[in-house]
Amino acid sequence: MRKKIVAGNWKMNTSIAEGTLLAKQISFLTKELEANVEVIIAPPFTHLAGISSLLKQEASKVSLSAQNCADQLSGAYTGEVSVKMLEDIGCKYVIIGHSERREYYGETNAILLKKIELALSAGLSPIYCVGEKLNEREENRHFEVVAEQIKEVLYMLKGFDMNRVVVAYEPVWAIGTGKTATSDQAEEMHAYIRRVIGNKFPTLADEISILYGGSCKPSNAVELFGKENVDGGLIGGASLSAQDFIAIIKSF
Ligand code: PEP
Repeated sequence: MRKKIVAGNWKMNTSIAEGTLLAKQISFLTKELEANVEVIIAPPFTHLAGISSLLKQEASKVSLSAQNCADQLSGAYTGEVSVKMLEDIGCKYVIIGHSERREYYGETNAILLKKIELALSAGLSPIYCVGEKLNEREENRHFEVVAEQIKEVLYMLKGFDMNRVVVAYEPVWAIGTGKTATSDQAEEMHAYIRRVIGNKFPTLADEISILYGGSCKPSNAVELFGKENVDGGLIGGASLSAQDFIAIIKSF
């Protein structure tokens, strides 16, 4: 059965004290939840060590993710953080290909493939983000755009690697805009993504978790998560409030 996942992407938000408190609250509130949903938080790099020890100390159910990683294993890459460092610090996941990385830092599918391969080789599970921009949807090219993001990256992986990948469908026009995709738009794209993955990995397509991301909040999560091919969410803004994040998790 596919894993249900709710992951919080904190982006470049919170001080260490605020982030530690948020992680503590989320960890505490997840204690009472049933075990069938994996809860992931992705704080900024500077918070990972502290939050990792906190989660270990509390034997927390919450898993740790990074928001990005280097596209090189080690060496003279000033300012970069390697997959080995992330694994070492206690990360289980790493978000790769977020639209903000594609857009503001010029990350191409070729770079993202390198990052995913490195993440997998270090034992991390990549959360690979795909999604179309507003003009691409308006021009009715959204399926084509997303298929390309999958084919140029995920099709290059071996099957035994692919089963550790989580996909997040994040329509760029819905990220941080308050404009959510309707549950039917999300379901249509998630089913399509599963079919595209199935063309290359027929036995795995049904096992891959596909998360929805883009202004997901407590008020729309029930409807989105109720769809057959929506296996959870990648949450931005609403993951900065423990109450909202937990309410989203409880929406399954
Ligand atoms: C995101 O950036 O991954 C995201 C989904 O953001 P938001 O929930 O704020 O739209």
